[in-house]
Formats: sequence, C-alpha cells, structure tokens
Amino acid sequence: MGMYNYLVLHGLTCPRCGHTADHTVQFHFGHVTLHDYEIGDTLRWSPRQRDNRGEPGHHRVVTEGLTGAHPDCDGPFGPRRWPDDDLIDIYLDNDVITHATWHDGTVVYPETDRRRSTFLVLDTP
Ligand SMILES: [Zn+2]
Repeated sequence: MGMYNYLVLHGLTCPRCGHTADHTVQFHFGHVTLHDYEIGDTLRWSPRQRDNRGEPGHHRVVTEGLTGAHPDCDGPFGPRRWPDDDLIDIYLDNDVITHATWHDGTVVYPETDRRRSTFLVLDTP
C-alpha cells in the first residue's frame, strides 16, 4: 500500500560544493510499492491502474523526485521550498531509469495533483 517508490543514487555530485553523496529519492511513478530502484532498473507497473502513479506506455518520461539536501553544504539550491527537501528529475526510457539530476528548473512540469504524480512526457518534441 505504499504511496511512492525509492530511487537510490550513488555519488550524486552537488553543483554548489562539488562534493558527492548518496541520496535516496522518493518518487511517485509506476507501481508504488516502496520499492528500491537504482539507475538502470526497469520500473514496474501494476495491471491494476489504481495501484500506479503516472501513466504507463510512454517512451520517454521525466518525473519529479524528492530527496534531502546535500549534507556537506545544505545545497544545492536554496532557499528550499521546505526545510529539508530538494528535488530530483528522474528520466525513464521505455520504463528503464536512465539517469537522474538535480532539478534546476530546466524541466517544467505540467500542473498536476502533486500527491499522485508529477511528470512530463518527452515522447514528442
Ligand atoms: Zn553540496
């Protein structure tokens, strides 16, 4: 009955201080089961759509994740919207999690119900 999944990022570089740290990111996409994903893993979908967040069937998607600030410098982007949170853009190609970056505003997500899923379809230009 989990409401999100985890993406575990190893050695994510902080653009403020240049140091790296491991981050655990919460995201709302796919079958939400509190599953731990890593880069290169294939996202799972439930046959029951009510157990999913986002939409299956897209070739390329970016979805928003939430993690803690970089521990060395409290970065990378301040002031944050919440005291302990920073955002990560997670990219998927045919449901494979290809990479993830700090959210720097390049990706503009459509308005959605944030409790369900925030994502942008990149299938078409
Ligand atoms: Zn830092």
